[in-house]
Amino acid sequence: MKYIGAHVSAAGGVFNAPLNAVAIGATAFALFTKNQKQWKSTALTDDVIAKFKKNCKENNFSPKQILPHDSYLINLGHPEAEKLEKSRNAFTDELQRCQQLGLIYLNFHPGTHLKQMSEADCLSRIAESINLSLQQVPDVIAVIENTAGQGSNLGYRFDHLAQIIEQVEDKNRVGVCLDTCHTFVSGYDLRGMDACEKTFAEFEQVVGFKYLKGMHINDSKTPFASKVDRHAPLGAGEIGWDCFKYIMADDRFNGIPLVLETTNPDLWPEEITELKKLAGLTE
Ligand SMILES: [Zn+2]
Ligand SMILES: [Zn+2]
Repeated sequence: MKYIGAHVSAAGGVFNAPLNAVAIGATAFALFTKNQKQWKSTALTDDVIAKFKKNCKENNFSPKQILPHDSYLINLGHPEAEKLEKSRNAFTDELQRCQQLGLIYLNFHPGTHLKQMSEADCLSRIAESINLSLQQVPDVIAVIENTAGQGSNLGYRFDHLAQIIEQVEDKNRVGVCLDTCHTFVSGYDLRGMDACEKTFAEFEQVVGFKYLKGMHINDSKTPFASKVDRHAPLGAGEIGWDCFKYIMADDRFNGIPLVLETTNPDLWPEEITELKKLAGLTE
């Protein structure tokens, strides 16, 4: 089964996210469980948690269809001790919030070395951060997203993801999310079926589909291998529909949230309908 949706708004309370998802015909969704541009968070009350769970249940969203995303401020590979500590605390808090909401995933960008440490050291530091946070919160799986490789962000090679996973102690609690735009601009071609076949074979070899816990389905405004992260609506960018056809027809992408982060939310209902059609799903 393919679960298809978008990163929806949680404005007014996290319990609105499943309602916003169902309104666009989604069977999966992503959300921020707090303001993603701020360090501070307001504790989730029992009432908010109960409403979220009720709205998910009533609209047939199980935890495996939901991919929460953490704050953009968090850098689990920060070279400075004090700022690293702040990020680790915030990440633990994000895991905790997911756990309270009954969710099983937390999607995050691995981190950035800010040109103050080597890639290998930074990847080890990220893995250490994950280990420390996972020890404090049960159940939730840390889902590392591949990145476009802008600036000094790590996670733009499949090998980076593999190096982090290798150093995470509990392999059952770590996974990855591939963003098609990031994959493409970081230098893995997705234009056409043959290119997709080759790129995902490399992913299987270096990381392994057993770790794939979600996908971000985006086209790219910027060219192949540009390392510049600009999402585009499906078919309106440099990747094109073949890639999305490929994913929708391939069983290796079953049972995980496939989430649009395309730039025009007005198009989400159409994009979801088209993806469902390609997956052989009918309303
Ligand atoms: Zn993404
Ligand atoms: Zn992106």
